[in-house]
Amino acid sequence: MAKLVSAKDMLNKAREGKYAVGQFNINNLEWTKAILLTAQELNSPVILGVSEGAGKYMCGYTTIVGMVEGMLNELNITVPVALHLDHGSFEGAKACINAGFSSIMFDGSHYPIDENIAKTTELVNACNVLGISLEAEVGSIGGEEDGVVGAGECADPDECKSVADLGVTMLAAGIGNIHGKYPENWAGLSFDTLAAIKEKVGDMPLVLHGGTGIPAEMIKKAISLGVAKINVNTECQLAFAAATREYVEAGKDQQGKGFDPRKLLAPGFEAIKATVKEKMELFGSVNKA
Ligand SMILES: [Zn+2]
Repeated sequence: MAKLVSAKDMLNKAREGKYAVGQFNINNLEWTKAILLTAQELNSPVILGVSEGAGKYMCGYTTIVGMVEGMLNELNITVPVALHLDHGSFEGAKACINAGFSSIMFDGSHYPIDENIAKTTELVNACNVLGISLEAEVGSIGGEEDGVVGAGECADPDECKSVADLGVTMLAAGIGNIHGKYPENWAGLSFDTLAAIKEKVGDMPLVLHGGTGIPAEMIKKAISLGVAKINVNTECQLAFAAATREYVEAGKDQQGKGFDPRKLLAPGFEAIKATVKEKMELFGSVNKA
């Protein structure tokens, strides 16, 4: 029986091999199935991301663990799969640890650094005991995610080192990246900041949030500078919505049994698969399972 795994081994392998593992956020059964099947077809490790808002939407963390573990079995998924809380609060992190998630992000970036460190330290201990990977964040990442709006700042490399030294598995640091669609006048990633952080934190795998719309060349450069995990959320949503719109606008839901949800949601499902495939190829994780 396939089991969820910590993200630790897959990310250390990625950092050493100079590629990145994608975190793809899930919203429902179709999303989850599309991502798992694509990872299996491409023989790629994968991280399923769940925000607290999506967790509520999917009827809570235990429901999600049950669904994902069921799929690993029923779909014969053999590639490494981590189920990861995205931008967790302290309470949310503890709830996911109890529910059976295999990876946690605690986002304490909005706390003063001392409080971020104290709360992260408590979670490091809890996660280490259970073999769960833990992501911490320093320097808020811009844009809006589940109502949390960040300014898109660049993290302080010394603060990054303080948090990395606590024993977290991977570190998200703001380097000018933002969530959601990038504005026309976006300045791009700050590679100087990324290089300075890398210098301080050494072998710690770094996480790039807001992977939607970052040009391929910037993604590749970020990977070469120590990014081993890249989060993709909005891009799958846009692809799903566009494919569903096309189906409805073509009147296909009104032809025959086109209203059947298994038909109505199929184009969006395929669009997510295509997006995930494109990202895994770009990140270099194909055949790295
Ligand atoms: Zn994020």
